[in-house]
Amino acid sequence: MSGLQPVRGTRDLIGEECRRFRYIARTAAEILALYGFQEIETPLLESSAVFLRTLGETSDVVSKQMYVFTDRGGDEVTLRPEGTAGVARAFISEGLGQHLPLKLFYSGPMFRYERPQKGRYRQFQQFGVELLGVDNVQADIEVISAASRVLRTLKVDHLTQLQINTIGDTESREAYRQSLVAYLRGHVDRLSEDSRTRLEKNPLRILDSKDEGDRAVLKDAPLFSNFLNEASRAFFAELQEGLTRLGISYVVDPMLVRGLDYYCHTVFEFTTNAIGSQNAVIAGGRYDGLIKSMGGPHTPGVGWAAGTDRLALILPDLPALPKPVAIVPLGEAAERKALELADQLRAVGLVTDVGYSGNMSKRMKRADKLGARWAVILGDTELAKGVAQVKDLTQGTQEEVPLSNLTTRLR
Ligand code: ATP
Ligand code: MG
Repeated sequence: MSGLQPVRGTRDLIGEECRRFRYIARTAAEILALYGFQEIETPLLESSAVFLRTLGETSDVVSKQMYVFTDRGGDEVTLRPEGTAGVARAFISEGLGQHLPLKLFYSGPMFRYERPQKGRYRQFQQFGVELLGVDNVQADIEVISAASRVLRTLKVDHLTQLQINTIGDTESREAYRQSLVAYLRGHVDRLSEDSRTRLEKNPLRILDSKDEGDRAVLKDAPLFSNFLNEASRAFFAELQEGLTRLGISYVVDPMLVRGLDYYCHTVFEFTTNAIGSQNAVIAGGRYDGLIKSMGGPHTPGVGWAAGTDRLALILPDLPALPKPVAIVPLGEAAERKALELADQLRAVGLVTDVGYSGNMSKRMKRADKLGARWAVILGDTELAKGVAQVKDLTQGTQEEVPLSNLTTRLR
């Protein structure tokens, strides 16, 4: 090895890039607070069972993507691949069922062993919301509205589009499942290995497949919409009316599904065509069966997760940072004084950099490179007189300012 490299699929976020990520997370937190979501931070490590149960052993995430290991004490743990399972686990282990309805949001790194490419990493960041304890469709409308407002505030709404669909209630899904299985049995030779396994264990999961052969078979598969009972249709109609009332535009995509048993009714995605094939920026839906499937009390839920890395790819440039003041001390006495002056400037809110090394010209170059507005030049002569030379780097002019007036002058 020629030197230490980051693990494949992980990245260092430095300077402006890091600022973009923070900006997204901070903006999301502010908007979600407007909706009354409270922040929850769950551990990055969970017992593997938390994900095996919630995501299902036939899911791509569980079968191929989890970072699973046995720790030194012999426990099977997993680096979280997504946020919902941990929140559901916390809901149960912390007894949060006392406080329904609950509106929670989270944000932080997730880990999936995937093939790295633009918009797809092995360590990536998500933020997301979970609204627990409400079976009313108004909750679905509210979480979609929150997602939409986050995108609008980030000024990426014109780059994204909302797709919605319904997978109905248990009765509708059962009717659909039978029809889907009958259809897929007729094309089993064209299905991928994975999907053949799923056909027995969890056929709805096949709908999520990205395998091209599977997708070709699915093109002519029966549509969910033909199997929806009255109640499921009414739920979906109400969702659409609610979105329209709030001025949120959407398209119905009958192929959009979630293949896990605990999902029901609403599924949605915000996609973009600005970053190639990794096009989903936010994905969500209703998961009324999830918490019960983990051993908790029956608790309806609806939520979504957003991919921060993908949003960072389409986020417009951020407003420039305030231009700093550069202090340029010359000589040891001035160097000692510099931090004291910097302290006074910072105390009144001025971004201040102290040049540490090199001669005058080297330090001035650094001030230029920082995009400094002012250079405060301080040598032995200035110190003796109790002044500094203040150079206006945009105008090129210079004036002598008493140290006692410095903060007032620069403010
Ligand atoms: P995809 O279809 O792109 O694989 P997914 O269905 O696996 O996405 P979810 O589990 O629904 O994604 O996660 C929600 C969001 O998190 C995605 O819409 C995406 O923006 C982001 N995301 C998921 N996996 C990754 C990854 N490996 N790298 C970066 N972002 C990701
Ligand atoms: Mg994926």
